[in-house]
Amino acid sequence: MINLILFGPPGSGKGTQALKLTERYGLLHISTGDLFRYELGNNTPLGVLARSYMEKGQLVPDEVTVGMLRNKVEANPDVNGYIFDGFPRTIPQAEALDALLTERNDSITKLIMLDVTEDEIVNRILERGKNSGRADDNDPAIIRNRFEVYLKETSPVYDFYAQSGKSVKVHGIGGIEEIFEKLCAEIDAVA
Ligand code: ADP
Repeated sequence: MINLILFGPPGSGKGTQALKLTERYGLLHISTGDLFRYELGNNTPLGVLARSYMEKGQLVPDEVTVGMLRNKVEANPDVNGYIFDGFPRTIPQAEALDALLTERNDSITKLIMLDVTEDEIVNRILERGKNSGRADDNDPAIIRNRFEVYLKETSPVYDFYAQSGKSVKVHGIGGIEEIFEKLCAEIDAVA
């Protein structure tokens, strides 16, 4: 099993790269943002709850997010591994993920961070907002808030996995293919 955490600020290219990585390595891509947007699109109770946080650029509470993630993992046991995208976003989420994998005699293989500056992020997300239809992609104040939340609550997750030597950074500005090859080199080094 290869279990990757694709890490980095909002708009750092996780979704784009995760898709390419699933093709090359046959892993299941689990994006908590996509899962929430699916629920939201279907107006489920979970979607209605998530919307109130997402629209403000805040995190959905950990219990809700962890429960949803667990369901997705347990519904897909027979895979070569997972690419977690947008999860874990807090230390309690990281602890819950480790516990979930340990139950299955498994663990995180590596956390790879796409390293991108805040100014680049804001530009990219505003650009994406023109077509994505995402309310949280159109307002500079909300985007800044997402970045703040990332610095405060999410970036400690990098250090959490660094303690066991699993965290690495890849420069996240450049061509999609160029960045993809750097990610593959990191994965091939441990797979
Ligand atoms: P981004 O492009 O900003 O990385 P995502 O698509 O991953 O965004 O997530 C969009 C929103 O969904 C987040 O701003 C947050 O409100 C919610 N969300 C996604 N993943 C999580 C998570 N692991 N924990 C809490 N909230 C989450």
